[in-house]
Amino acid sequence: MDFRLTKEEEAIKQEFIKFFDAEMKNAPPEFGNGGLEGIYATDEGFEFHKYMARKMGERGWLSMGWPKDCGGRDASIMEQVIFDEVRGYYNAPGVDGFAVGMFAPTLIAGANKEQKNRLLPPIARGEAFYCQGWSEPDAGSDLASLTTTAIREGDHYIINGQKTWTTGGHKAEFMFLLARTDPDSNRGKGLSVFHLRMDLPGIEIRPLLYMDGKHVYNEVFFNNVKIPATDMVGVEGEGWNLTRQTMNFERSGAGGFSGAKRYLEKIIDYVKTTQRDGRTLSKDPNARRKIAELFIASEVGQTLAYKISWMHQKGDFMGLITAACESKLFSTEMAQQMSNYATEIMGLYGQLEAGEHAPMDGSMVELYQFVKGATIFAGTNEIQRNLIAWTGLGLPRLKFRP
Ligand SMILES: Cc1cc2nc3c(=O)[nH]c(=O)nc-3n(C[C@H](O)[C@H](O)[C@H](O)COP(=O)(O)OP(=O)(O)OC[C@H]3O[C@@H](n4cnc5c(N)ncnc54)[C@H](O)[C@@H]3O)c2cc1C
Repeated sequence: MDFRLTKEEEAIKQEFIKFFDAEMKNAPPEFGNGGLEGIYATDEGFEFHKYMARKMGERGWLSMGWPKDCGGRDASIMEQVIFDEVRGYYNAPGVDGFAVGMFAPTLIAGANKEQKNRLLPPIARGEAFYCQGWSEPDAGSDLASLTTTAIREGDHYIINGQKTWTTGGHKAEFMFLLARTDPDSNRGKGLSVFHLRMDLPGIEIRPLLYMDGKHVYNEVFFNNVKIPATDMVGVEGEGWNLTRQTMNFERSGAGGFSGAKRYLEKIIDYVKTTQRDGRTLSKDPNARRKIAELFIASEVGQTLAYKISWMHQKGDFMGLITAACESKLFSTEMAQQMSNYATEIMGLYGQLEAGEHAPMDGSMVELYQFVKGATIFAGTNEIQRNLIAWTGLGLPRLKFRP
């Protein structure tokens, strides 16, 4: 297999690099080291996310892979991978993972024409920001046991219940929601997908704060929230199948590995410029071995991301589920190893988030704290392993509950 880019692909890559190189210089100090915290924890960070989204929207980059009849230009998977890689390397905001990454593919797969015409263009322009209303206090891994209801009354649905861990729910204008439209149903049957505004009467958003007070996650309560029936996406009661497709989009991000490469470059720079016990850290055989291991892992990860694109291209959707699980599992555990190692070699200074004594601008300690959650969100890594065993290796499927 030839991994080299074609001339055209190389030119596209250079265009992306030029854009991100220039635009990331506009990041406000509040964006810090980026990630979810950079986007959602401050107004300035979120404004920069919106600014970048509009810029990318103007260039058609948020919708490049969408079919032409949905406003996209059917760009090749490879073009999207290059975009994700370059954006990941620059740790750039502006691609709303919930809107662009999850809800848009759901709409393309299941919405009617009117909904596609109404909801897709603002996402493509980088003007619509969503949060994801799936998890509940008693429904996370076992999402199909969720109890939030959406009951049809005339030309409306009335929503009651609670969602939790809603990332960016305090900033997003919209939510895509999974709720039970048939209150007598259980598990996957009787669930439906909805689009809704976050400022409707009856919606209460309560922050789930970090220990240091930063606000990224939320609980969202619904008390008789009334939404138009036209905002139910797909066939009523068939939302589980639609959601299962979306899950693979949540797990298939290719940008994570190029982001890891950037972190690795920072670690390499650190060991080359730091003295320990009278010699440069980069001459320590243990440091060299560990960094080589991390480099190999990031290369393997990159190949896993390419494998997902290849599965997409082939239309092998069972293979895609396995590959997406592999990539999610591998990327999150690699990020944990990388940040564990970096904070270990930095010693006590590694705990500083800011200031002249904070190595690598505090980025590693932020990563260290953030990636603890990465093996939980988007489906825990235990669940990914179960799915790989079942879909990839053909082992018997385990039932969640009798
Ligand atoms: C930082 C963060 C952000 C998040 N953002 C969002 C969001 O924006 N929107 C949203 O809807 N949700 C979000 N989530 C929720 C996330 O999807 C759930 O936390 C996740 O699916 C796990 O569910 P749970 O927390 O209920 O844990 P549980 O499902 O209760 O799991 C507890 C433990 O049991 C293990 N386990 C459970 N079932 C099995 C099984 N069958 N086999 C083996 N092990 C099992 C799990 O792996 C885990 O270790 C977020 C979570 C985090 C941590």
